[in-house]
Amino acid sequence: MEQKEGAEGVQALTLVEKSPFRSVCVFCGSSTGRKKSYQDAALALGAELVTRKINLVYGGGSVGLMGLVSQAVHSGGGHVLGIIPRTLMRKEVTGETVGEVKVVEGMHQRKAEMSRHSDAFIALPGGYGTLEELLEVISWAQLGIHRKPVGLLNVDGYYDALLALIDCAVGEGFIDPSQRHIFISAPTAKELLRKLEEYTPTVYGAVALLRWEMEQVSYPSMVAEIAR
Ligand code: AMP
Repeated sequence: MEQKEGAEGVQALTLVEKSPFRSVCVFCGSSTGRKKSYQDAALALGAELVTRKINLVYGGGSVGLMGLVSQAVHSGGGHVLGIIPRTLMRKEVTGETVGEVKVVEGMHQRKAEMSRHSDAFIALPGGYGTLEELLEVISWAQLGIHRKPVGLLNVDGYYDALLALIDCAVGEGFIDPSQRHIFISAPTAKELLRKLEEYTPTVYGAVALLRWEMEQVSYPSMVAEIAR
């Protein structure tokens, strides 16, 4: 715990808990969505990361909610790492990235790098890209490839339909009930981060973790890149 200095230089009584996370990877829409609440949630998540001194890792650029969350962290004095595939680097596609930029060769390397640089994952509302990134880190947790917490920021019930589909998949026998709670959901950034910080990972597929590491060894260029 530390004491936070107030705006007038007076010691405020607010006590800020030190987060166990150094960096959190945020997946979110390259569009802003129709409701202002989505944009407000992106800004609030950025502010909450700054308050907790957590670095942001994201897909790079300034478009949509991605731009809002990254600018909120950057302007609040937090560190931002944008990981962009070379082919998406054109400004008309992605816009400007604030903070540090890491250029990678493709989408697969981008996701591996986003994962390597992060201690947890959060998905804000988004479209196909966000859903794909979110479901991949959930399925990687299921396979035991990582044990990092995954959180869904369910702004204004945006993800209620996805949660209902997942419950349906559990009911129909496609998702093991013990793995229903691999990820956590909450309606606000503050509540979600608190829950993620309290999360104790369940060990799934320990053999897969070993196999995954062995497979990385058989791709020397990938290993060299990840080790950098
Ligand atoms: P979507 O939800 O379909 O808008 O896709 C957003 C997700 O896919 C982000 O988390 C990014 O990692 C990636 N992505 C999609 N479009 C872009 C873009 N124009 N610039 C950078 N990343 C993007």
